[in-house]
Amino acid sequence: NIKSIEELPGISQTVINKLIEAGYSSLESLAVASPQDLSVAAGIPLSTAQKIIKEARDALDIRFKTALEVKKERMTVRKITTGSQALDGLLGGGIETRTMTEFFGEFGSGKTQICHQLSVNVQLPPEKGGLSGKAVYIDTEGTFRWERIENMAKALGLDVDNAMSNIYYIRAINTDHQIAIVDDLQELVSKDPSIKLIIVDSVTSHFRAEYPGRENLAVRQQKLNKHLHQLTRLAEVYDIAVVITNQVMARPDMFYGDPTVAVGGHTLYHVPGIRVQLKKSRGNRRIARIVDAPHLPEGEVVFALTEEGVRD
Ligand code: ADP
Ligand code: MG
Repeated sequence: NIKSIEELPGISQTVINKLIEAGYSSLESLAVASPQDLSVAAGIPLSTAQKIIKEARDALDIRFKTALEVKKERMTVRKITTGSQALDGLLGGGIETRTMTEFFGEFGSGKTQICHQLSVNVQLPPEKGGLSGKAVYIDTEGTFRWERIENMAKALGLDVDNAMSNIYYIRAINTDHQIAIVDDLQELVSKDPSIKLIIVDSVTSHFRAEYPGRENLAVRQQKLNKHLHQLTRLAEVYDIAVVITNQVMARPDMFYGDPTVAVGGHTLYHVPGIRVQLKKSRGNRRIARIVDAPHLPEGEVVFALTEEGVRD
């Protein structure tokens, strides 16, 4: 199973360097290239270009499949419980591996609590809604609290120190650092296949701070898109659940609009995945609803943020 262009069979390091210099650094970029363009841009024979493109497509499994094959692939997706049956129900059983799930909502809507809970729940055995796995927690806002992990683990009857040891934590200090961390993750997840969950909380805050305003929108979107595609790819290749959060302004007048749609109708980014909007309700109650997931039923559910964690 090939995961990067360095692993393409029968391609010399010299050719790989030429590909990278010509801007073809990912399997995706090779898979969608035309043999002629690739040959000219990288200065390699047409036959080599054709071979590389075929290998890249095979590696990414880009081909016609029957609906039955698609179904069988989806059936092997695994799920992590959120701690709330209602929220699990909304998600079709929980957070899925090989998928990026985004939680977005106003400050205090529960995004970070859900991230903490998932990084504990992923450790549960499958019969209790986990994957007996570990989590990677990328914190951009400095809101990670080990005390919450302890409480949540204790509430589930897990060994507390063990639960804490199964979470790899890192604070990302700016966008370049955040991007570099995800660049390096491939090595970590291939070395430790028990990593089943990657969290980025929040994925957008550094990008917003460093690229403010409409004049920076294009660059910000481009960088963010690339970052998100890289995360999606990790999810797909390593059968990992990726969870990202995104803080958006509270707009009480528009719970049913998508507040991450910029003026002019363009969404902030375009990546496949499941998007869950969170909203504060009375007391410790929170409301969740799914945004544009064609295969999941519409509707909203209520869950609670408690001392023990995410509950019904
Ligand atoms: P967001 O990340 O969306 O800004 P959080 O996930 O940090 O929001 O949610 C904060 C809320 O979580 C608090 O307002 C509170 O309701 C709840 N919460 C945080 N810690 C605890 C705790 N120890 N016990 C009970 N509820 C808590
Ligand atoms: Mg938060």
